[in-house]
Amino acid sequence: MRPDSLHIEYRYLCCCTLSLALLFLLPGRGIAEQISGSSFISTIHPACLYAAMAVAGICALFMTALWLAVTKYKRSLRKLDDKEKLLKTITDYTYDWELWIGNNGSILFCSPACERISGYARTAFEKHPHLLEKIVHPEDAPRYRCSLRTEAQQFHAFRIIDRKGNIRWVEHLCREIYDDRGNSLGRRSTIRDITDRKTAENRLLLAHYAIDSSKNPLAMISMEGIITYANPAMMNLFGFTSSREILGKQVVSLLAPQHEEMDIVQTVKTEGHYREEMLARNKRGALFELELQAFITRDVSGSPLSLTAFFTDITTKKADERKIKQLAFSDALTGLPNRLALKKDLDRTLAMASQSSGTVAVLMLDLDDFKQINDTTGHAKGDELLLLLTSRLKKQLGEADSLARLGGDEFVLVFAQVDNTNRAAQKTQRILSCLSDKSFDLGESQVFTSASIGIALFPQNGKDSETLLKHADMAMYEAKKSGRNTYRFFSDELRRRTIERHQLEVGLRRALRNEEFFLVYQPQVDLRTGQIIALEALVRWQHPEAGTLLPSMFIPIAEKTGLIHTLGEWILRTACHQAMQWRRSGVPPFRMAVNLSAQQFKQADLVERIEQVLLSSGLEARYLELEITESVFMENLESAIEILVDLKARAIQIAIDDFGTGYSSLNYLKNFPIDRIKIAQEFVRDVPDDHNDAAIIETILVMAERLGLKVLAEGVEVKEQMKFLRDRNCFEMQGFYFSPPLQAQQMEDLLKQPLAQEYAVGLCP
Ligand code: C2E
Ligand code: MG
Ligand code: MG
Repeated sequence: MRPDSLHIEYRYLCCCTLSLALLFLLPGRGIAEQISGSSFISTIHPACLYAAMAVAGICALFMTALWLAVTKYKRSLRKLDDKEKLLKTITDYTYDWELWIGNNGSILFCSPACERISGYARTAFEKHPHLLEKIVHPEDAPRYRCSLRTEAQQFHAFRIIDRKGNIRWVEHLCREIYDDRGNSLGRRSTIRDITDRKTAENRLLLAHYAIDSSKNPLAMISMEGIITYANPAMMNLFGFTSSREILGKQVVSLLAPQHEEMDIVQTVKTEGHYREEMLARNKRGALFELELQAFITRDVSGSPLSLTAFFTDITTKKADERKIKQLAFSDALTGLPNRLALKKDLDRTLAMASQSSGTVAVLMLDLDDFKQINDTTGHAKGDELLLLLTSRLKKQLGEADSLARLGGDEFVLVFAQVDNTNRAAQKTQRILSCLSDKSFDLGESQVFTSASIGIALFPQNGKDSETLLKHADMAMYEAKKSGRNTYRFFSDELRRRTIERHQLEVGLRRALRNEEFFLVYQPQVDLRTGQIIALEALVRWQHPEAGTLLPSMFIPIAEKTGLIHTLGEWILRTACHQAMQWRRSGVPPFRMAVNLSAQQFKQADLVERIEQVLLSSGLEARYLELEITESVFMENLESAIEILVDLKARAIQIAIDDFGTGYSSLNYLKNFPIDRIKIAQEFVRDVPDDHNDAAIIETILVMAERLGLKVLAEGVEVKEQMKFLRDRNCFEMQGFYFSPPLQAQQMEDLLKQPLAQEYAVGLCP
């Protein structure tokens, strides 16, 4: 109860007292009259008595009324106190910051929440009524002013800077307040801290912005599979221009018909995520390749809310992958399957053949002289040849046959259905003929070529692709060795030889360490004098198990493995030292002929090494003759010329060995510093009976004479051969007719003997 209401009670009490006093007046008068007979009272004037009684009554009544009023007032005060306490408690615990601003602008009340929100004590606001205005963020001043307009009756958000300088977001509601009579009591401000909400809102906004502006197509999908949100990138991907076109659609309706039955939601529910590559169709119905990834989004309690799905257009990626795969599996030049693809295809073919008990032929084809063609015509022409060759080979393929290129000039053909070996041989022969029968037109030049083919049969020669390819390769080498432009089947015998070759390869390294090599020497005689003019050093290998091995058995392996360099140097050193040893023991000077492999010609420091050997042995350069074959010119023409010029400059003699068996032009004979040609055994063997060989020898002799070259005939075994040659003015000879190659000691004995009678036979008519 307010004090003015107490005042009202008083007026009410006075009225009551007066009326009660009047009520007492009448009965009071009667009583006074009855007792007026008493002595004392009778002395008092009845009027006074009446008056006294009336005053007494009024007093009593007034006292009673006063007592009643005070009691009521006290009760009201207690109630007021309770209400104040309640009000205080409420304001103390009000989360919002409440302000009562009087009409004069003074702060009449400030709730304790102000301290929590602004950092300032409530007294600071009471003392400085403009403090609130001052702590409003400068940028938000207009908003604050706007919020002061009480008629708006709505919250306005703005920032304040709290006492510590932190920015806080608040919401302000300002209302006019009135008393019961409608008089303005000022304004009530309610300020609410919304910093956390704003931060969360901002974060949400940011997330929304990020999703919206993301280049990655994204959609939210309800648990019923309906698209509820799609970002612009997503709409763009599918060609939609308005979200209305996509929202509300079933996600599977965006996929190609074959995927429409997919239950993406169920998969995500059971597996937690979804990731699949599929075909999708855009608004116009055009199909494209898509990767769809979806995850489940849950609320705080963990209940599934919706799916978040990412859509990636993988059309280009897939096309690239296919291209890379194709490149990985095909030969860049010819487009044919490469080694990888061949292996895969062959494995498949073999699996099918083993089911149908069929025979498969694997052919390893290698061109016979591709390197030479490449070197002489250039790599571009070499490539052209390979392309022409590929198209010729393709024409020979049957339905079940396939062709692959392993690299270089190596091709593999697979005949998936061959009934027997004969059939495979016929087909192979046709392949060989198609390559060698007709020249290849390379623009300015017409090139003839041939191939060597090795054949391995499934299942006889191998059960898997690797073994078959290995065996076909072995057979191909055999074909090469057998004179090229031919084919060979793999056989156990061939395998044995290959293994032997492998063992030799291993043995060669050991042989070098164990000094298992030795030299034999074969004399070269001049029939005009009957003298030994030179000795040819020929290497032998004293194999611990196989006995004495001839060079043809190990020189090719040494060349292949590179051991020829060490071996060649050992041969040269041994021969030169041996020559000097014989010289020191009294034998007259003679040439020492040493064979050099074409591989040694690839050695950059060959000349220096030879010079070193000459120096260490003491043999004069003019007594050293190096025998080289025509292959030296074929393999590395430029460096060969340089080396020959260098050697010649040091007075070392050069002889062309096995002349006539090579393939190169005779041009080098004229241009290069060559001293001697050695007519190959092949031509000498059948003279005088073979007219062709006889003609070749005669031609060589005429040509050598014209070019001013010395000639020596090799492999002279019988008197007739010797006579044939001598009659045509070929006097330098070497062969079993004169002497087989001899060991050093035997040769020394021979050298120290007077001239063997037989040698002089050439002098006789
Ligand atoms: P080549 O240089 O033409 O050597 C001549 C070959 O003919 C020797 O065979 C020799 O034993 C053989 N021979 C000599 N006279 C006759 C004969 O009247 N009739 C027959 N049928 N053969 C005869 P060998 O020693 O087996 O050498 C073969 C080839 O191995 C040599 O041919 C040469 O190219 C190569 N060779 C030999 N020794 C070496 C060497 O130390 N280094 C290199 N790089 N190659 C060598
Ligand atoms: Mg020789
Ligand atoms: Mg020879």
